[in-house]
Amino acid sequence: MSLFKLLRARSLVPHRQLGIVAKSKYDFDLIVLGGGSGGLACAKEAVDHGARVLCFDYVKPTPVGTKWGVGGTCVNVGCIPKKLMHQASLLGEAVHEAVAYGWNVNDQNIKPDWQKLVKSVQNHIKSVNWVTRVDLRDRKVEYVNSKGAFFDDHTIEFVPKCGKRYIVTSEYIVVAVGGRPRYPDIPGAKEFGITSDDIFSYDKEPGRTLVVGAGYVGLECACFLKGLGYDPTVMVRSIVLRGFDRQMSNLLAAMMLERDINFLHTCIPDSVERQTDGRLLVKYHNTTTQAESSDVFDTVLWAIGRKGLIEDLNLQAAGVKTQNDKIVVDASEATNVPNIFAVGDIIHGRPELTPVAILAGRLLARRLFAGSEERMDYSDVATTVFTPLEYACVGMSEEQAIETHGVDNIEVLHGYYKPTEFFIPQKSVRYCYLKAVAEINGDQKILGLHYMGPVAGEVIQGFAAALKSGLTLKTLRNTVGIHPTTAEEFTRLTITKRSGRDPTPASCCS
Ligand code: FAD
Ligand code: NDP
Repeated sequence: MSLFKLLRARSLVPHRQLGIVAKSKYDFDLIVLGGGSGGLACAKEAVDHGARVLCFDYVKPTPVGTKWGVGGTCVNVGCIPKKLMHQASLLGEAVHEAVAYGWNVNDQNIKPDWQKLVKSVQNHIKSVNWVTRVDLRDRKVEYVNSKGAFFDDHTIEFVPKCGKRYIVTSEYIVVAVGGRPRYPDIPGAKEFGITSDDIFSYDKEPGRTLVVGAGYVGLECACFLKGLGYDPTVMVRSIVLRGFDRQMSNLLAAMMLERDINFLHTCIPDSVERQTDGRLLVKYHNTTTQAESSDVFDTVLWAIGRKGLIEDLNLQAAGVKTQNDKIVVDASEATNVPNIFAVGDIIHGRPELTPVAILAGRLLARRLFAGSEERMDYSDVATTVFTPLEYACVGMSEEQAIETHGVDNIEVLHGYYKPTEFFIPQKSVRYCYLKAVAEINGDQKILGLHYMGPVAGEVIQGFAAALKSGLTLKTLRNTVGIHPTTAEEFTRLTITKRSGRDPTPASCCS
């Protein structure tokens, strides 16, 4: 039965009396709630194994009215637009470096056109939305642009644009609804503040921007805004990048400070008001000294974390267990209800990263429809913070290694380094630093790798596979580097922290 006919037959009000006899017990083998990274990966993998799949995706507009198409956070308001803005800001720096390398750049007043940048970014996103829809159609994944909610454990109800309520049933249901930015509970937060959901399509120049929050989103947004010529201030509630290696996080903050990015440490906002000149007056206080202050900004960007989108799912109708605003699953992404699963950002206690959502979605579909038993391994997930010198890492922080192994049982090798390409434009090498955290005994199994420098994500990605395969310091020392790259620095690590020797290199090639 086509989806259209099915939906006509299954309009909610009289459905229980209809007595429809479907070909199988359920209308679909799999319903996926959420067409983002995890949901789409799961849906596409499932059809590849012969399942009949229906995918719902729906985006609730932000308080200032921003909305977007299918593909979820990553494509529309996350990784992709963020990487493009990051690249735009790096190019600004590169233009100035080009002059040192002998390029004649005539216009000395080089500055970006924010509206043009936003348009280019949005055009790219729209093309991805289009390709996604075509891909779903070609693969025969049924796609409905509506919000789905549980009617019971095998039934989803929804109201498409026509306003009529429908239900549809499935053997399995995968919840992949992701999350959305939080707003602080203070006056003016929603009226005057924006979030990462708005910034990539923001039609006016951000200008002087208060970025509240010092996690991934806050630091990345502050850095690309600075690189594009604006004036960001980061308000930090406790510490920068909580949960990451402390030394590396502090280096990252110092690198940002060197680039004239302002920080307001141990502060939280109290209110936002619009002044008569249109600018935003932010009142805040220091949580250590209790001192109250205020300042005026053109834009206030909340980057205080994300909440899982469970509130509209009517999970109680299916009896699915939640914790805070996330869904509780076991090691097979199964909820407490046997036929209901969850993947991606909506899962409690897992990394909120696109590749995590994608792989978990794929593996789940293979287990449900292809007899696989392979589970997602959430350990040693590599990640990078897209700041101008990126910080990328995989495995344990130094603190975690000490906590789990004991300080006497770990060895930390570290070093500063000087990227060759930094010499001519005389770029600061002060924060180009890396370290390997390893067991002290035997071949010295590596527990964590940390790297700050240009394109750190590209560097760490390959080492992540090595670390997952049991990389040791012995192997790393016997690996021949590719010269002159910055990634080769991992093969040149000789100085242990324990030795107290100066980890600053004398030259680039010794
Ligand atoms: P999502 O991609 O959020 O998809 C869920 C979809 O479900 C959304 O479209 C949502 O609107 C929809 N939905 C919600 N409720 C319903 C419902 N009831 N019915 C139907 N549809 C519904 N990760 C990285 O790995 N690298 C990065 O560089 C990176 N950068 C980021 C930058 C920013 C600014 C942000 C905010 C995130 C970034 N992330 C990054 C994280 C990454 O975007 C997420 O981890 C990833 O998108 C999660 O995928 P998901 O499928 O769980 O959810
Ligand atoms: P995070 O949870 O990483 O950071 C939130 C920040 O906001 C913290 O500094 C936190 O401080 C602060 N904060 C929380 N509540 C308040 C409050 N009420 N007032 C003031 N400050 C507050 O969230 P993000 O939004 O930065 O990122 C969400 C997720 O998205 C990340 O965990 C990551 O997985 C993903 N992401 C990945 C990226 C990548 O891969 N490069 C890029 C961007 C996002 P405190 O430490 O005190 O709690």
